[in-house]
Amino acid sequence: MHVNIVGAGIIGLATAFELSLRGHTVSIIDPAPGQGASHAAAGMLAPAAETVWGQGPLHQMLAASNASYPQFVNQLEAIAGVRPDYLESATLVVAAEPADREALHELLELQTSLGLAAEKLLPSQARRMEPSLASNIAGAVFCAHDHQIDPRSVVRILLEHFSTSLVLERGEELVTSGLQTIGVRTSTGTVLVADQTILCTALGTIKGLDPLPLRPVYGDILRIQAPVGPPLLSRIVRGIVHRENVYLVPRKDGSLVLGASVREDGNPEVSVGSMVNLLDNARRLVPGIADCSLNEVIARARPATGDDRPLIGRLDPGLVLSTGYSRHGVLLSPLGSQLTADLAENLTENPMLANVDPYRFSDSSFHLPQEQSS
Ligand SMILES: Cc1cc2nc3c(=O)[nH]c(=O)nc-3n(C[C@H](O)[C@H](O)[C@H](O)COP(=O)(O)OP(=O)(O)OC[C@H]3O[C@@H](n4cnc5c(N)ncnc54)[C@H](O)[C@@H]3O)c2cc1C
Repeated sequence: MHVNIVGAGIIGLATAFELSLRGHTVSIIDPAPGQGASHAAAGMLAPAAETVWGQGPLHQMLAASNASYPQFVNQLEAIAGVRPDYLESATLVVAAEPADREALHELLELQTSLGLAAEKLLPSQARRMEPSLASNIAGAVFCAHDHQIDPRSVVRILLEHFSTSLVLERGEELVTSGLQTIGVRTSTGTVLVADQTILCTALGTIKGLDPLPLRPVYGDILRIQAPVGPPLLSRIVRGIVHRENVYLVPRKDGSLVLGASVREDGNPEVSVGSMVNLLDNARRLVPGIADCSLNEVIARARPATGDDRPLIGRLDPGLVLSTGYSRHGVLLSPLGSQLTADLAENLTENPMLANVDPYRFSDSSFHLPQEQSS
């Protein structure tokens, strides 16, 4: 089978990879591959540290995808010949002030009720693990199974692997025959015909598809470089500082990813106010970041749904949707790409598909393409 994939973020590329493992060929259409949300993401694989109340079926999906990560990474290495920057370094969640302890305890209670790996630590134990933590932190929880991958390394490897399948054009319009999508018209007018077309366009649009139940949730994030010497941190530190969240993700090369704001103000540019806040909160936890140099600041939009679960489903006999991965798209890449490839192959028995049905919201009435000549 030949499959058009519109959108080359981590989701489109991981789906292309999964389909190629299953023996299918792909065309990947994107004018700016890898430059969307996947370019900003910190790459925390955090089913325990990022868990929040009331997200029922999402917990199960995050845990399942996290468990698939080692295999995903090994397959990438075996087939593409390069190993992505995946680190099984675990995560410490730290309460900065005594007033933040309550939020930490609530998190631990939820993690325990869901059977997630989480262990309460004394501040002194946390500081033994990470000596750069401030001397006056109030409490900590250790999440042994919350690791990290550099999403840019995954995107880079997959773009190289699929270099001959890439079409550096915008997918302009769905091409239909009767009520079935049979291909995509690109910005140069070229029609790419395929047995199946998969939309991995995040917040992007394409003619022939009505607006999806998605909204942009902007995030500002920094990349900083520690001075020469021993690394500042050896595992992810997520902080609760005056009830606000901040995280520091140490990369193999000694740099740190520091994020991220959560804004719904419609501003796609970097927000100075958010940056100042992030830096203040991060410095409260790890004072040594003041000695780092600034490498990059960037803002991108998370493609968010009302329940943080993605939209994965069949829209017509030739069209599959896979988007709306909200704040967990990197973590959900292995599972999301498998579910999406299943749908492209018309395999519908995985019960998790019910959790990601694109029509689950009462106001969902998007699609289907109008009948038109191809
Ligand atoms: C600041 C920040 C931090 C984050 N941190 C984490 C994290 O630690 N862990 C985690 O799991 N997730 C994280 N996320 C979320 C994660 O980044 C997203 O869920 C994920 O990247 C979504 O991947 P995607 O491929 O769907 O979207 P994108 O990476 O946005 O890719 C979509 C692609 O579609 C293309 N496109 C759109 N329209 C068209 C069209 N018409 N034709 C052709 N191409 C088109 C775009 O050019 C783009 O390349 C973070 C997000 C942000 C913003």
